Amino acid sequence: MKCGEATVVKNAGSHYLLSELPAWDVFPSVLRGKVRLKASEITNPIAVGDKVKYEWADDGDSAVITEILPRRNYVIRRSTNLSRQAHIIAANVDRAYLVVSLYFPEVKLPFLDRILVTCELYGIPATIVLSKTDLYREPAAEEIAHFKAIYEGAGYKVIETSVKTGEGIAEIREACRDRVNLFSGESGVGKSSLIKALDPSLDPKIGVISAAHLQGKHTTSLYEMYPLSGGGYLIDSPGIRGFGLVDVEKEEIAKYFPEMLKASADCRFIPCTHTHEPGCAVKAAVDAGLISPERYNSYLGMLEEDKKFR
Ligand code: GDP
Ligand code: ZN
Repeated sequence: MKCGEATVVKNAGSHYLLSELPAWDVFPSVLRGKVRLKASEITNPIAVGDKVKYEWADDGDSAVITEILPRRNYVIRRSTNLSRQAHIIAANVDRAYLVVSLYFPEVKLPFLDRILVTCELYGIPATIVLSKTDLYREPAAEEIAHFKAIYEGAGYKVIETSVKTGEGIAEIREACRDRVNLFSGESGVGKSSLIKALDPSLDPKIGVISAAHLQGKHTTSLYEMYPLSGGGYLIDSPGIRGFGLVDVEKEEIAKYFPEMLKASADCRFIPCTHTHEPGCAVKAAVDAGLISPERYNSYLGMLEEDKKFR
């Protein structure tokens, strides 16, 4: 009997593929029946990135997962809009790279802000990747500078990339090393091209863990972890949605805007919604140009939407 700890790199129907990271040596496993999820609203017991304990009998044809180790963080998605059931997309993520483009498709700041709030809520550090800069660097220098000022001012790193000129690729490759990195972006932003540029052996539109491990098995899993040839691991995700299952109290939303959280220490009232209260330090910071009006407007929009759901 062999046993050990490993990371889930892919869910393939009833099987989970494991590897003892940092080594990339994938093997199949099944979940022991008695391992059950405590939170009943979660539809999948194990997600990519989960750390598990396993046993492997000498005569077994796959390992058996005996325990799911506590998660440091996770990304969840509601199964349907109306349902309270949720699916865990990935667990134990070191960093999320949110790929956006100024044009084709144009990033909508309230949408990006909602995703950033979600990352803060999940406890996942986020980096913003501004893609396809070769297409618009010259005509849009001011817009690029404005975008960067907003998000760097809020405390986020913004990396400009182009797969045509190679800008930013080495920087991201370096940052991904030794880490589990989630790449997220709307269709068309250039996420697949970026992943291919990071590691030419990867083709996100096909999938990477080859048929060798999965012959004859159900392989329709959306999420899997790939090893990057430059070091580290990548999970490709079609998109992190704003606010998943987790309910955030109105008074709490501002805590997930890092720059507002910081400023709010000086608000006269606690709790403060940073809307109408006298002595609000967040509003003062917006008026003084220390917090961007775009970010503050996104915040107000979230408060409004939040009202609609109550
Ligand atoms: P995805 O849907 O986010 O995976 O986007 P793709 O990687 O498929 O890219 C969408 C379109 O943008 C394709 O036509 C790509 O050729 C183009 N594209 C992606 N990255 C760049 C870039 O850095 N520069 C330019 N000029 N085009 C790009
Ligand atoms: Zn306030």
